Amino acid sequence: MTVKSFVPPLRTLMGPGPSDVHPRILEAMGRPTIGHLDPAFVGMMDEMKAMLQYAFQTKNELTIPVSAPGSAGMETCFVNLIEPGDKVIVCQNGVFGGRMKENVERSGGVAVMVEDEWGKAVDPDKLEQALKENPDAKIVAFVHAETSTGVQSDAKTLCDIARNHDCLTIVDTVTSLGGTPVMVDEWGIDAVYSGTQKCLSCTPGLSPVSFSDRAVAAIKARKTRVQSWFLDLNLVMGYWGSGQAKRAYHHTAPINALYGLHEALVMLEEEGLENAWTRHQRNYQALRAGIEAMGLSFLVAEAQRLPQLNAVVVPEGVDEAAVRARLLDEFDLEIGAGLGALAGKVWRIGLMGHASNMKNVMYCLGALESILTDMSIPINGGAVTAAQKVALA
Ligand SMILES: *Cc1c(COP(=O)(O)O)cnc(C)c1O
Repeated sequence: MTVKSFVPPLRTLMGPGPSDVHPRILEAMGRPTIGHLDPAFVGMMDEMKAMLQYAFQTKNELTIPVSAPGSAGMETCFVNLIEPGDKVIVCQNGVFGGRMKENVERSGGVAVMVEDEWGKAVDPDKLEQALKENPDAKIVAFVHAETSTGVQSDAKTLCDIARNHDCLTIVDTVTSLGGTPVMVDEWGIDAVYSGTQKCLSCTPGLSPVSFSDRAVAAIKARKTRVQSWFLDLNLVMGYWGSGQAKRAYHHTAPINALYGLHEALVMLEEEGLENAWTRHQRNYQALRAGIEAMGLSFLVAEAQRLPQLNAVVVPEGVDEAAVRARLLDEFDLEIGAGLGALAGKVWRIGLMGHASNMKNVMYCLGALESILTDMSIPINGGAVTAAQKVALA
């Protein structure tokens, strides 16, 4: 057998993540590998921490990237804050809330589910009610930006309610960070995790996390050991340490992946967080004009929509998978399918990070319109023109 180098096709990534990685980031990742305790690397880690604090809008000392994907950031929050028997209120309005429940139970906790319809935001009144009925709850967990449906929940209000009931909060911002406001300190979030491959334009495989002083105190006061050795923050803190504290070897950091995240965060600082949020909003408005011009509609009510993840309703009788397959084959364009209860019912069009640009909006609308037309699906034309009008307004 002859083996050859793997050369991936050049795609445009407009699904639920990974999103297009900026060439500057790929270039940074190709730089020479150095030792993970090299003073030069340690300096880079300190800069990274400061830039993550900016991205999360927090002064939290414990703000680091976990050396594994978003799911590991999720698990880090749950295994460190939950001790056996702890009661956790989990608000679920999509796929990822279900994973939170799994995490609670596998950590020995008791999950109390507060369910909302998929495609709707978490209802603060239901959380309030659940907290009244469960005065012994210790933690409230919810997903800020549900990538499975394209819904954003009101994190500030949910955190206020949780704090009024003396609960710590765990918030999933994997899809929101860098795309829409995530104000960790202002909202009083205690434990937050994100991912690198969505609105940060970076490769998958790292998970930025941040913990408030209250959360750190709770972790330090644990009566039982964290079940996961790798994710135990008491050990990881010794590695990421602060200031002059000597760093103890815990695991070998994914050096080159961290170069990539560093570059992504430099780019975020260059653009400015507010400008990044505005860009995501503007490109969503253009995409929306095109989608509506075709006569297609969105799953989510306007006020709750995520600009970076658009769930578009598949027209009656259309084989949605065939459309996606043709987009990939003929246009090298990836969009996402519906998950769980929404499988077959929606397409998920991502406009995340570097991929949130006018070129992609026009490309996606043009490709979708031509394929739907070719498949004799009754839609209106003019998607690109409608998007252009918004873009030039
Ligand atoms: C993508 C995603 C995750 C998981 O991140 P991975 O990097 O795939 O492990 C978790 N939560 C939400 C809301 C996501 O969109």
